[in-house]
Amino acid sequence: MKYSNFMEVTFKALSVNEGFARVCVAAFCVQLNPSVDEVTDIKTAVSEAVTNCVVHAYPKESKGDITLRCELEGDMITITVQDKGVGIKDIEKAREPFYTSKPSEERSGMGFTVMESFMDNVDVTSNSFGTTVKMSKKIASCPCEVVG
Ligand code: ATP
Ligand code: MG
Repeated sequence: MKYSNFMEVTFKALSVNEGFARVCVAAFCVQLNPSVDEVTDIKTAVSEAVTNCVVHAYPKESKGDITLRCELEGDMITITVQDKGVGIKDIEKAREPFYTSKPSEERSGMGFTVMESFMDNVDVTSNSFGTTVKMSKKIASCPCEVVG
């Protein structure tokens, strides 16, 4: 039978929680025996997704929640970062390299491009109730015989 496991945490959309999310995912995916490079890739992608929720999802002062879910299925890790913020009107445009809605804040518009280059697959869904970024990566060094 395929090994499977998951975890989910919800935290407030504050920049202080970006580091927490990175560490949380890294600690959880250690059970798949990833290489240092693989963990670094995953942490970087998670960081970009969580930072986007912090910076863009809740423009008003009262910040909402971010839910981070991490699923392991065989040698595949799937990470979902979800907010209940304003949403993205044009996802295709948002995913273009160098597109940012906040050029005045010295954003480079490379967050989604970074996620795409460090993960195998990145799926973005959004509406006026929030945004969900689902990304997955195969862990090459996974022993795939992990016992639960
Ligand atoms: P960088 O990530 O380089 O600092 P950025 O955040 O503007 O800059 P991306 O991460 O590629 O660039 O995101 C592109 C655009 O998509 C953002 O400028 C923003 O308009 C929109 N966006 C991304 N994530 C969200 C989100 N969770 N909620 C609302 N809008 C978002
Ligand atoms: Mg970004």
